[in-house]
Amino acid sequence: MQVLTKSRSVARVVTAAQTTEGDGVPIRRAFPGRALEDIDPFLLLDEMGPLEFSPGSHAGFPDHPHRGFETVTYVLEGAMEHRDSRGNHGILGPGHVQWMTAGSGLVHSEMPGLELQRKGGRLHGFQLWVNLPRRDKMVTPRYQELPGSSIPSAADESGRVTVRIIAGESLGARAAIQTHTPISYLHFTLQPGGEHVQQIPGASNAFAYVIDGEVALAEGSAPLVGGQLAVFARDGDSVTLANRSRAEANVLLIAGEPLGEPVARYGPFVMNTRGEIVQAVEDYRSGRMGAITVS
Ligand code: MN
Repeated sequence: MQVLTKSRSVARVVTAAQTTEGDGVPIRRAFPGRALEDIDPFLLLDEMGPLEFSPGSHAGFPDHPHRGFETVTYVLEGAMEHRDSRGNHGILGPGHVQWMTAGSGLVHSEMPGLELQRKGGRLHGFQLWVNLPRRDKMVTPRYQELPGSSIPSAADESGRVTVRIIAGESLGARAAIQTHTPISYLHFTLQPGGEHVQQIPGASNAFAYVIDGEVALAEGSAPLVGGQLAVFARDGDSVTLANRSRAEANVLLIAGEPLGEPVARYGPFVMNTRGEIVQAVEDYRSGRMGAITVS
């Protein structure tokens, strides 16, 4: 059955800013920044690397808290080791996704895997922050973790479009990860000539972030290259992705229903009111979010 859709136009294009985060990890921050504060319900998108660790390097994201939202870590190359104040510990390898609902709060660390620290190597990955609706901000922290081999994927009939479905659905396949509000997080690999029309509900905000290659997103607009993010207008119910270059391209397509709630934000805490932020800082300082104990 042919479904008629209207493809969205591109409202704006932003180039991710080079900066460092944690104790000196080079990242590209697509938002928040001067050009783009957030894309409700999304609060932040960082691309870690790709970077080469020299042997003995320890740069990472040592102990820090979170409350009121979710952090989604997607490792493409290398490994990240995480540890938290609730006794959780694990290593995220290539292709691994960790969808962490910080909810009421925890303290965690995110460091390059021990092997990477000892021997050096390449690290490349993403972190997305997804806001939680007011009703879920203080839920019990929860992890959803999937190795790359467990992330649903699909290909189109031409074989030139493949997708890894971290959240939502695409090409007849559905994600394994559950979200608090309707979210799509899709990683498309487009071979030359590959083109895909992705249904995105008209009420959702949507953006695309190009990892590498060139991706055309709308009729008549210039293709985006690595490190560029496009925010789509809410003027249609689908998004068109096309690779008209001669090299493979990778792009993240992320969409979600806006919460439309007030955002009070202070570093790693994202609540609805300033009073709730004051409370979060107090809870963290007094140790009520716990501490990491390494046994
Ligand atoms: Mn963190």
